[in-house]
Amino acid sequence: MSKEPQTIDTVWKAAAYGDFDVLTRLAGADPSLLHAPDDQGFYALQWAALNNRVAVLTYLLGAGCAVDVADASRQTPLHWAAVRGSVPAAETLLRAGADLAARDSRGYTVAHVAAQYGQAGLLHHLALRWGADLDAPDADGRTPLHWAAYKGHADALRLLLFTGSAAARPDAEGCTPLHWAAIRGNAEACTLLLQGGAGECLAAADATGATPSQLAAEKGHRVLGLTLADARVHDGPPPALGTLAGTWASFLLATCGLGLASPALQAGSWGQICVACRIVRPLRAKHCGVTGRCIECYDHYCPWVGNVIGRGNRAFFLTFLWLELGSVTAAMAVAVARLHSNLAQPRPGHGPATLVWPVVFVVADAFLLLSIAALALAQTNQIAKNITTNELANWHRYKYLHAADGEFLNPFDRGWKANCAEVCCAAQRPRSQYVLEGGEDSVSLLGSAGGKLDAMV
Ligand SMILES: [Zn+2]
Repeated sequence: MSKEPQTIDTVWKAAAYGDFDVLTRLAGADPSLLHAPDDQGFYALQWAALNNRVAVLTYLLGAGCAVDVADASRQTPLHWAAVRGSVPAAETLLRAGADLAARDSRGYTVAHVAAQYGQAGLLHHLALRWGADLDAPDADGRTPLHWAAYKGHADALRLLLFTGSAAARPDAEGCTPLHWAAIRGNAEACTLLLQGGAGECLAAADATGATPSQLAAEKGHRVLGLTLADARVHDGPPPALGTLAGTWASFLLATCGLGLASPALQAGSWGQICVACRIVRPLRAKHCGVTGRCIECYDHYCPWVGNVIGRGNRAFFLTFLWLELGSVTAAMAVAVARLHSNLAQPRPGHGPATLVWPVVFVVADAFLLLSIAALALAQTNQIAKNITTNELANWHRYKYLHAADGEFLNPFDRGWKANCAEVCCAAQRPRSQYVLEGGEDSVSLLGSAGGKLDAMV
């Protein structure tokens, strides 16, 4: 961007920079300028929409400017508003009657442009308030999902998959969104697409016969190519079951009054979307890759008990750990007492050679005892502080665990008594909230969990 001051001497520049004085002065001298294109063929309404100049837009529309005025590529002011995700500008245009389904010369709708620039907020607004079709193909058969995958806009991808965009649709060249994400070497986009139901695309060939893994390798993304080649199509549910689960989840979301109206989405927390479960996760929930579902207050997956530890079973897990610690301690005490008595008063036939296995047992038991003691103490400490193993290990990923200065802050800690009561009486207490409101002392319930989310695991 040039740092030199711009001379605002035309209606188009005045519209772009929101300079009302110049705009009204020039329009007063020659009102036809408001309806005329500049030397590049663009209109004042487009410039105002691009830069979210709502007051200028209102003025221009009041002056009779056509709301769907299009440039040479047939892009309307609504298309331009999508470039920078200007929600107020788009809302102003739509209320003035802008055509939500308008297409430019390449068949792009406003949703295509928003997806190309990763404007998840505008996509959400268009779908929630105006019922926009976010899955319409352009002239080349590409949907907004193809574009978000190609450009690597993870938040837009999450939202589009959540709203039910077809994850496996091929474009005119036979390329699915997974093909495009592979071409650009975008691992996060590939992961989201596979979680969102694009598993069948792993084996799909485009018009040239290439699969996503081959395209990734051809473009120099060797690791991604190998990862995609290793991923198995039958890892996820069969497509029919996946569709059925998605339909059922959508039904639950509709009946729970959640979906697009979720407070987390209204707050722009796109990371709370689970594209696999098609839900908006409450705060502190995480998708478990082993069990394939979202878990409230996710702690960790425990291979010992073969289950995830979360909101519903954390107290039981802690009880299990302390009982286990008691049993290995008792076993250790018995073994040491036996060894001690045998060494103090050797009996016939019980020479040193017969003590080898008891000693091996004591060593193995000591190893177990130390491990379980460490785990039990860590879990007790975390429950007393109301923090999970996952949050402690990955706190830098979660905005809600950051203080204003960027340091770690636990907003859920309300003293050890209240914290322990919260975990031990999880079933009797309100479920996790979707978003934190205010500071650390005002954790309020802004939504209740629903859909496929499992609290009891
Ligand atoms: Zn999930």
